Amino acid sequence: MIETEISRAITQEYFKKLTEHLENDAVIVGGGPAGITAGYYLAKAGIKTIMLERKLSIGGGIWGGAAGFNVIVTQDNEIPGEFQITSQKKGKLYLYDSIEFASALTYRAKQAGLEIFNLTDVEDVIIKSVAVEGVVVNHSAITSAKLHVDPFCISSKYVIDSSGHPAEVVHMLLKRKPELLPKGIQEGFMNVKKAEAGVVEKTGEIFPGLYIAGMSVCAVYGLPRMGPIFGGMLKSGKKVAQMIIEQLEK
Ligand SMILES: Cc1cc2nc3c(=O)[nH]c(=O)nc-3n(C[C@H](O)[C@H](O)[C@H](O)COP(=O)(O)OP(=O)(O)OC[C@H]3O[C@@H](n4cnc5c(N)ncnc54)[C@H](O)[C@@H]3O)c2cc1C
Repeated sequence: MIETEISRAITQEYFKKLTEHLENDAVIVGGGPAGITAGYYLAKAGIKTIMLERKLSIGGGIWGGAAGFNVIVTQDNEIPGEFQITSQKKGKLYLYDSIEFASALTYRAKQAGLEIFNLTDVEDVIIKSVAVEGVVVNHSAITSAKLHVDPFCISSKYVIDSSGHPAEVVHMLLKRKPELLPKGIQEGFMNVKKAEAGVVEKTGEIFPGLYIAGMSVCAVYGLPRMGPIFGGMLKSGKKVAQMIIEQLEK
């Protein structure tokens, strides 16, 4: 019966890729520009990597540009050029269509070998001794309905918090390790130049096994906001990937 053949094909394929990725080299939490870029470079280097995104669509804050005006801006074109995204130069800025931007990043990352699980909500981390060793996840439909249903676990040598402003994975740690960061840190006022440089500079390991990238970095270190400019997100994603590749090569 064709109906059940379709269902069998879908469920078998999904659970095949899920079981193949219960153990990983890198798990990326959050599919915004920083997470996707990290995933692209990690997968391209042959690192076994998955990206977990609680929403249906991948792209995080890309789709809406600024205030829903679907145009993306960066100050240099190196990474978008590598993703072959159509750009337009206006003075010192490069402009892109946000729909093409989100789609191209996702497409190229997937083609590079990144495995992506959408509708997957990361709700905790696994720490058995000294380092983050994986994540505890649930289906987004279950968490959004607040159902009393147990999660399942995915292990990884490295976890990247690219969950954006909420820095959700860092906060999961803070609940039990409040000494990790000084209290009351929050993003500073808008300052494009400082924030774009700072987000890349501060991208890195915050706890053994846990790296931060993208707007999580601003939230964690109290860096200024940078407004709707995305170059720092991409560079931060690339940097975190390079750092993890170096660690794995050691
Ligand atoms: C209120 C607000 C203020 C903003 N201010 C700025 C700003 O000052 N500067 C700036 O550059 N941009 C700003 N933006 C725009 C935009 O969010 C970011 O620039 C950019 O998208 C951040 O990229 P990112 O990759 O760090 O994270 P995001 O694009 O935010 O992507 C994070 C992704 O992680 C997913 N996620 C989060 N937690 C989990 C979890 N537990 N499990 C699974 N998935 C998870 C989210 O669904 C999301 O798709 C703002 C957006 C908002 C809504």
